[in-house]
Amino acid sequence: MTVTFSIAGHAKGDLIGYGVWFWRTAAVTYTLQGGSDKRTLTEYGDASWNKAGSMWPAPDTSPVEVTLTLTAKAKGAVALYAPMCGRVQHKYLDDARPELMRNMYQFAPEALFISEDGAGEVVIEAAEDASSTDLPVILKSCNRCGRFLPVNVPVERDQLSFSNHCVADHRRPCKHATFGRLRNVEDAKEVLQLDYGYQLECRFCKKFEVNAAHNPQRTSAQMKEDGARRRAFELLLAELYGGTPQLRYRHEKGTELADDVWKRFGCACFNCGAKLPTPRDMHLDHTRPLALLWPLDGTATVLCGSCNSEKRDRAPSDFYTPAKLAALAKITGIPPDDLAKTHPNEEALALLLRRLDWFFGEFLLREEMTKERDGKIAGELVVKALQKVLARSGQHKGMNLQAEYDRRRTQKR
Ligand SMILES: [Zn+2]
Ligand SMILES: [Zn+2]
Ligand SMILES: [Zn+2]
Repeated sequence: MTVTFSIAGHAKGDLIGYGVWFWRTAAVTYTLQGGSDKRTLTEYGDASWNKAGSMWPAPDTSPVEVTLTLTAKAKGAVALYAPMCGRVQHKYLDDARPELMRNMYQFAPEALFISEDGAGEVVIEAAEDASSTDLPVILKSCNRCGRFLPVNVPVERDQLSFSNHCVADHRRPCKHATFGRLRNVEDAKEVLQLDYGYQLECRFCKKFEVNAAHNPQRTSAQMKEDGARRRAFELLLAELYGGTPQLRYRHEKGTELADDVWKRFGCACFNCGAKLPTPRDMHLDHTRPLALLWPLDGTATVLCGSCNSEKRDRAPSDFYTPAKLAALAKITGIPPDDLAKTHPNEEALALLLRRLDWFFGEFLLREEMTKERDGKIAGELVVKALQKVLARSGQHKGMNLQAEYDRRRTQKR
C-alpha cells in the first residue's frame, strides 16, 4: 500500500510538510521516500499507532512528492488516521526564534497546521485484493489549542502528540488527577487510569506556549539573573519586614508557616489536585508575585513541582480561571478584588522609601549586591527591578529610584 503526498504552489522559504498517523500488524514493514532528510518515522509495536511526517522551509518552488510505502510480508493489516500535507501556517511559527524552528520535523504530524489555500494532495493506493477494516484510535484534547490528537494507550511510552507526565519509576503511576486520567468526553463515567500520564498541552503548545512564549527571549544568563533578583528581593523583604517569613510566622502564630499552609490546602496541589503526602513534597508559591514585592507569608499557595514551575512569577489572575481565583481567595483570605489585580505591594514600597539611606548606604553595599556578573552589578539590577515595581504603584509612582541611585553615586565621587 502507498500513501503519496504531493505539495505544490509554495514559494521559496514557505514552511511545507506532510504527515499521517498509522497502525500496522507486525508483518508489515514500511519506508518513506522523498521530502526532507529530517523526518519523523516511529517504529512502535503493533499495540501502538505510529507517526510519520516532517516539515521544513521549501528550498525553492519545485513540487515535492513523498511516498509512504507499507509492505506486507504475510497477510497483514494497516490503518491510517488524518493523512495531510501542504503549506504549514501558524502565528507562532511566523515569528518564532530560529532556534525553536530547528527541530520542527519532530513535530509532524501534530503541528501540521495546513492552511486552507495551501493544502496538498494525498493519494492512497491499496493492493487489489485488500479489504478494509476499522480500528479505534484514542484522541486526547489539548488544554491550550483545544484540538483532539492521537495518544497511545496502553503503551504510553510510545508518545505521539503529547509527552508523558510522570516518567521516573518512583513517580509512577502518575497520581496527578488531570494528567494521569483520560476521561471520555461522551461518557464522563468512563475513565482510563494511565501509568505515565500525559501532559495537558500537546507537544506543539508545550513548545510554543508553555515553555517559550511566556518569555520569548529567555536565555540561561537571564535565568541566572532572574534567580539572583529573586534572592535579592527575598533578602530585601526580610530586612524590610524584620525577619524571614518563616521566623516571623513562628513568632506571631507559634506554629510553622509551611505546615499550616499545607493543611489549609488539604495536603494537595491547588492547581492540579495532586496529593502531597508531606509538606516537603509541596512547593510554596507566593500567590502574588515576588517580582511585585509580595513576601511569602500565610497567604502562600500550595503547588506541586510541575504546576509551580508553570506558574512561575505570574500573577494569579494570569494563571488561574475565575472559578479557581474565587476558591483561592477563600483559602488564602486575600480579598477577591485584590487577587484579580496585578498591583505591587504598596506596604513594602512604603517601608523601602522610608529607609532610602539604609537601602543605598547599607543594603546595596553588601558583598552580594556589589558582585559583578556579565558586566552587570547585582545591586544595579535590583534598582532597575524596583523601578519597574514603582512604575506600577498607585501611591509611589512619582518616585524615581534609578535617578536617586545615580545622584547618590555621582555625589560620592
Ligand atoms: Zn495544543
Ligand atoms: Zn504525573
Ligand atoms: Zn499541580
